[in-house]
Amino acid sequence: MEACTAVEKEIDKVCSKFGNINDHAKRVLSDLVKQMQNLKDEYENSDSEHVLTDIQIDILKQNMFKIKETISKLASDHRDLHGTVSKVGKAIDRNFISDFAATTREEIFNMPEKVNLINKVICEHFYRQGLHDVADELARESDLTPEPHEKEPFTEINHILESLKVKDLEPALAWATVHHDSLEAQNSSLEFMLHRLKFIEVLRKGSTHQTDAICYARLHFRKFVHRHEKEIQTLMGMLLYVPNGINSSPYSCLLDSELWIEISELFLREACQLLGVCVNSPLTTCVNAGCTAIPALLNIKQVMMQRQVSGIWNGKDELPIEIDLGNENKYHSMFACPILRQQSTIFNPPMRLICGHVISRDALNKLCSGNKFQLTFFRMKCPYCPVEQTPSEARLIYF
Ligand SMILES: [Zn+2]
Repeated sequence: MEACTAVEKEIDKVCSKFGNINDHAKRVLSDLVKQMQNLKDEYENSDSEHVLTDIQIDILKQNMFKIKETISKLASDHRDLHGTVSKVGKAIDRNFISDFAATTREEIFNMPEKVNLINKVICEHFYRQGLHDVADELARESDLTPEPHEKEPFTEINHILESLKVKDLEPALAWATVHHDSLEAQNSSLEFMLHRLKFIEVLRKGSTHQTDAICYARLHFRKFVHRHEKEIQTLMGMLLYVPNGINSSPYSCLLDSELWIEISELFLREACQLLGVCVNSPLTTCVNAGCTAIPALLNIKQVMMQRQVSGIWNGKDELPIEIDLGNENKYHSMFACPILRQQSTIFNPPMRLICGHVISRDALNKLCSGNKFQLTFFRMKCPYCPVEQTPSEARLIYF
């Protein structure tokens, strides 16, 4: 974002300079043309025998001098503008890094099955976005056969989201009614919120629809009383203000269009939870994570190149630095060995010592090195507390 702002600043400079030059040039050129036109008219109207007087020659000379001067001034203004334009180019080069090759590992994707996985993930993303024709075409071209369960739920979800955008609650209400039990089981407020919105929409129509609103409330709110008593009381309070307009009542906040955005988000969250999928597609998550990580990776790559240690990173499955992607992007528990300061892997898993402290297996082996032949008798001290144990007492931990 800062990069865009920095470049935008340079572009603004060019635009304002260009605008000034343009205005100025137009003004002086039209003045000159007008003057020359006047002179021309004057000479044309005089006799054909007329010889220019000294004064007229002087005026002509002055005008020619002025034209030359103006043109060279305009040319230099124009040259000046070039400098400002090239500054934009430099700002782009400085602020945007076009070569991300340093942070990629192309060989990861060079096997057919990996390419297949990428196509699949892109396809799934398009299905989730409701872009079925694009996804179908990609599936056809890349020989994928998506299962119906990969497409259908998202078709319905997208249809409902589209309807909510145009303030049509019916598809969402129908969906919530069908999934009533599952929604209750996950303690969801979605169904109540949808009915609440529907009730408010009826109230908006004014006092002529007051009875309809009461009927709607009687019919639908009863089953939510045990969980939403307070909210239902509030909604009933709104009824008092219908004759004078809810807009000017203490309940006006319930007419906020923000509620529609909230309900769309809530619906998407709850529906994804029911389907057992994440709100974002795996592709979206990867792209977002990549965008967050790239600046840090480019920095560290530069430092590594300066210190001539760039080869260290190659061929490793882990990143050279820890990158925080925020809580919403944490999917797995991780263990980093406090001694080796490395993340555990299947080859170097975490081991729990009898005192409860956990270190990686490599670290444990290092602590015992030199005593390989008498492992069962060798008693080692925990690096973090005074408890002693034999290395074989350490237990492998699975996250
Ligand atoms: Zn310990």
